[in-house]
Amino acid sequence: MKFITIDKKDWTKGIDKSRKTYQLFGPVKDKNGCKIKELDADLAPDMDYHESVMSAKSVLFPQTETILTTCLNEAVEDHHIMKRAQNTYTPRAVLGIRPYDAKAILLVKMNFDTDDYKDPYWCDAYAATTLVGLGITKPGPFDFSTSVGCGPFCEEGLDILLADLDDHYLAKVLTPKGEAYAAACGFDAAADDRESQSLFDILQKEAEKNIASSIETDKLKEKVLLDLHEAPFWDDIAFSCINCGTCTYVCPTCWCFDIQDEVKQKESSRFRNWDTCMSPLFTRHATGHNPRGAKVQRVRQRFMHKLKYFLDKYDQGIMCVGCGRCVKSCPVNIDIRQVAHTMNTFEKKD
Ligand code: SF4
Ligand code: SF4
Repeated sequence: MKFITIDKKDWTKGIDKSRKTYQLFGPVKDKNGCKIKELDADLAPDMDYHESVMSAKSVLFPQTETILTTCLNEAVEDHHIMKRAQNTYTPRAVLGIRPYDAKAILLVKMNFDTDDYKDPYWCDAYAATTLVGLGITKPGPFDFSTSVGCGPFCEEGLDILLADLDDHYLAKVLTPKGEAYAAACGFDAAADDRESQSLFDILQKEAEKNIASSIETDKLKEKVLLDLHEAPFWDDIAFSCINCGTCTYVCPTCWCFDIQDEVKQKESSRFRNWDTCMSPLFTRHATGHNPRGAKVQRVRQRFMHKLKYFLDKYDQGIMCVGCGRCVKSCPVNIDIRQVAHTMNTFEKKD
């Protein structure tokens, strides 16, 4: 681990230099807010942004991705054999990613990169990706990241963490991937380790003081899973939900997907598309039977997965990094913090 000073006058020139070897992604504002997008040659990341509508999860898990292809032409020797799509996994860097979104990638990794199963698409994208984080000096009102073991200067999952110090960035280089990216930019002005660390500590404390929101999870682990599943409060929580799925699409830790096949003349492709557990179609079987056909079952599934199943399975906290996007985006104001409180304080009546 080392510290580097980057004069803001050198920032654009440096990241442009890295384009020779890296595909770049970063925050870009448009009329619908800020998104993490691929940065074309003439596009610089907007490092003054506050929060992005969508997280960076699509860099590793695209909204739609071709995973397999097949040739249906019987004149071709290996016709009808499914082969992995020729996707490229060139080195890529996500610039200005928020610390909670980098930590979210580690939670998603628990699903896509396990001892038993490795999703080759996600794992290859992950191996190719360098995450250059930007500490949050002014947390937004929906941010409750400190109460889920994350925070505005959390380093987990990041390769570099930047602190914005007006005319320059102070960069904490955390991993070999981070070192390689800094070298590709030509950022090499070493900063004093001790002074730099105390500056990061001060910034972190100041930023954390400004987070007023939190989520209550301390008793969730001890709750009996079936008691929560059968609890009477789910109808009330689900009542106003319109199953739009927004909460899951904006969530950096949600990973549900669907598989679709498409045939064009003699070529067939299999796609993986984002899906949502809030949609009745997500669980509908080919027979027409749907184990989660009722809205209340789907709403319960979302919160039980995030706040109980994940916690019980991995024992590493809840499946949430406290970014607050689902709270901010829900059109009917369903709030994961209130649901967590209801679950956390629930006592089964005998
Ligand atoms: S955003 Fe709100 S209304 Fe839409 S599916 Fe999620 S909880 Fe339901
Ligand atoms: S559940 Fe909500 S607050 Fe938590 S990570 Fe997902 S979008 Fe962010």
